[in-house]
Amino acid sequence: MSRATYFDQDCPTCGRPLQVRVEHLGKCVVCRHCHAEFRSADTSIRAPDEIDELMVRAERLLATVDELRRTPK
Ligand SMILES: [Zn+2]
Repeated sequence: MSRATYFDQDCPTCGRPLQVRVEHLGKCVVCRHCHAEFRSADTSIRAPDEIDELMVRAERLLATVDELRRTPK
């Protein structure tokens, strides 16, 4: 059994907090309070560009660490 994962988002129409399943991320969902339809988006997720940049920086850092380890004293 897999447990559903939810993220919190405020309804853009009535402003009440909602729990949206991650499976519905980026899809149209219906607010259970006011029944308004809206496209869900997790605002806590970083923009893809930002993630790419972080990954590049992390890889560079790891490469540096590898190099330092390989350098004999
Ligand atoms: Zn609503």
